[in-house]
Amino acid sequence: PVEKIVAVGGARHPSIPLPIDLFRPERANSEGLDLYDRAVLDKTAADIRNHPFASSEAERRTAGKGVSTSLDTDGVGKVVGRAHTAFPAWSQTPVEARAACLERLADLLEENRTELMAICVHEAFKTIPDALGEVREAVDFCRYYAAQARLKFVPLELPGPTGERNVLRYGGRGVWATVAPWNFPLAIFLGQTVAALVAGNTVVAKPAPQTPRIAAAAVRLAHRAGVPEDALILAPGGPEVGAALVADPRIAGVAFTGSTATARRIARSLLEDDARPIVPLIAETGGINAMIVDSTALPEQVAAAVVASAFQSAGQRCSALRLLLIQEDVAERTMEMLDGAMDLLNVGDPGNPETDIGPVIDQAAYDRLMTYRESMKPRWIKTIDVPVDGLFVPPTMIRLESIDDLTQEWFGPVLHVATWKAGELAETIERVNAKGYGLTMGLQSRIARSAEIMEALGEAGNIYVNRTMIGAVVGSQPFGGEGLSGTGPKAGGPNYLPRFAAERVTSTDT
Ligand code: GLU
Repeated sequence: PVEKIVAVGGARHPSIPLPIDLFRPERANSEGLDLYDRAVLDKTAADIRNHPFASSEAERRTAGKGVSTSLDTDGVGKVVGRAHTAFPAWSQTPVEARAACLERLADLLEENRTELMAICVHEAFKTIPDALGEVREAVDFCRYYAAQARLKFVPLELPGPTGERNVLRYGGRGVWATVAPWNFPLAIFLGQTVAALVAGNTVVAKPAPQTPRIAAAAVRLAHRAGVPEDALILAPGGPEVGAALVADPRIAGVAFTGSTATARRIARSLLEDDARPIVPLIAETGGINAMIVDSTALPEQVAAAVVASAFQSAGQRCSALRLLLIQEDVAERTMEMLDGAMDLLNVGDPGNPETDIGPVIDQAAYDRLMTYRESMKPRWIKTIDVPVDGLFVPPTMIRLESIDDLTQEWFGPVLHVATWKAGELAETIERVNAKGYGLTMGLQSRIARSAEIMEALGEAGNIYVNRTMIGAVVGSQPFGGEGLSGTGPKAGGPNYLPRFAAERVTSTDT
């Protein structure tokens, strides 16, 4: 079956104070800095600004050099070979020892939090709260998968009605390739990687070409935490490195987060060679994520949830809100609230503590988004000025004639808005389902029956009721979709680790 998570927010709060405060670190299980304390915030911002990485990264960018560390395709074969040789010893390392490595890594991530945040800010243009969220989610993944491994990867005695003793055991599969996105260059990069490792696999980990340095820092810490150097090898580079990696017949599984098109290419590549073993692919891809607002919703809550879901992280989350569907009767009132809320957003330097929204990841993304935004100019209902130069895409709302008009994901701060008619909730959900994606879906309503309808009909891995649609928490809101949004199992959920492992049953005559 598909896995669906429903998270219900605080609809019963009579009012949520405005101004809207986007300046909110990700919810997480692990401890964080108190960024609401001005002194802590200012000190963190100063540490990030003064971090040596800042100047080296600026130099790298102004010198126009690309990623200096990209492997060539021969190099890919070599690192897969090393990881392959390292597999027997690592897979025979007891689960307890592997889990302990993950926990040491979690501690090291926390100890090196400022450094990691600095790289996230300078290399991936994360705002300070988003950078903190990255570190905390990475820590959560390490601790959660360590605990899950201890729970799941123990021999399981099965019934023996035929008089045999049947035992199910889990083992590593071999070398996994993990292919990570730039939008969560630490949390998702590490989450996929440590899951594969703790299940007894060795890993060749390919970061996104935009964010190799945060990945390199994470891998260094994993080695310090006790993961053998050849059990986890970084393979930086662009699509050609990724293609060579997944095409290597020694790869025993792939965990991927990124675009639907790339997931499809990986799936094809894995099946191309008839002589090759059939191996698992775990893919988490994009979505055309909708939030449905009815006339009973609390306008302040809607405004806060919409602005955060659509524009936090410059809209560069797979989970982000792309399509806001407002019940016709309250469209005007809701738009007024949103208009005011958007005026409060600060777009600018991500290292500045006042900033809510930083630049998009690179020139190509900027050009793509700006060209699209410009082409939709007659349909703009709201945009805000960005007073600085750079790769800043002004947060923009675009009106659609029909729900069906949006057919692709725009990965940035561009929100589409359409209306629906009272009494047509089920039809509206079906029209969203018909887009074929299934990652996140939101509902803002105080009618309990509407939430039940959403839960029953919404074809989405993560359904959010009366709250934001971003920031899934490891262990509480396992994350991942269905349909064009991916294969599952969900990251940060109880079914994730077993997919990385080989299952073997021994039946012994007693
Ligand atoms: N887990 C993230 C969230 O809930 C999104 C991950 C992604 O963008 O791939 O916001």
